[in-house]
Amino acid sequence: MSGKKRIAVVTGASRGLGLETCRQLAAQGYRVILTARDEAAIQRGVAALKGGADVEGHPLDVSSDGSVDAFFAWLAKAHGRIDVLVNNAGRTYGGWSERLPDAAAMAAAIDNNALGGWRMILRALPMMNDAGYGRIVNVSSGMGALTDMNGGSAAYRISKTALNAVTRIASNEAGANVKINSVCPGWVRTDMGGQGATLSAEQGASGIIWAATLPDDGPNGGFFRHGKPIAW
Ligand code: NAP
Repeated sequence: MSGKKRIAVVTGASRGLGLETCRQLAAQGYRVILTARDEAAIQRGVAALKGGADVEGHPLDVSSDGSVDAFFAWLAKAHGRIDVLVNNAGRTYGGWSERLPDAAAMAAAIDNNALGGWRMILRALPMMNDAGYGRIVNVSSGMGALTDMNGGSAAYRISKTALNAVTRIASNEAGANVKINSVCPGWVRTDMGGQGATLSAEQGASGIIWAATLPDDGPNGGFFRHGKPIAW
């Protein structure tokens, strides 16, 4: 790279794992684009990182093709590149008791949690393939692993299984030195994970950072937790 900082884009980054991922990438010398759905959330996120971090905010709703298109039009003009993409945005649907959600709830979960990442990859991957460098991290969950599948949170689980399929399929289209992997951050104390979770946001984000900063001989198309492969 010609002396310029690498550009890292993080989705759903106003709080929780996304915000912590921004913090750690900025600490490693990346110029970070912190994205979230609304301006107030973006401002809160940027302010939480305080001075010193090379972070700018931009609106992005990964469930909207129009929003994703507008984001990439801005990115192309403002930076002309994307080196790292962390597809972190995600939400839960129903609770543990949600065993057989209707098809509309299932479709909404897949649209947000899996196709959100797909929309981003469709725009980012050609830029990365042209540049000959890219790292894409799909923030998934062990709850989406078929090998560990059981009832409850059905829409969330299936959306993360679909996101893992996005990883497998897109990784086959990755060009030289472009790597696309799924990461489970573990059970993390965030709005989603709750205060009883075993890991801090800093600990959970470390596995995301590992995949976002892989060396050139790092893996492509895998599923990892804390830098170690896990079963799909
Ligand atoms: P969180 O604090 O609830 O943060 C989730 C973020 O995603 C929020 O900022 C939310 O923004 C954003 N988001 C949701 N849908 C979006 C969309 N369509 N466009 C843009 N942003 C969107 O939860 P978290 O724990 O940090 O979760 C981050 C990721 O880790 C998620 O993908 C989650 O599934 C995954 N994960 C978390 C855990 C855990 O234990 N915490 C475990 C495994 C996996 P809004 O406020 O606008 O909704």
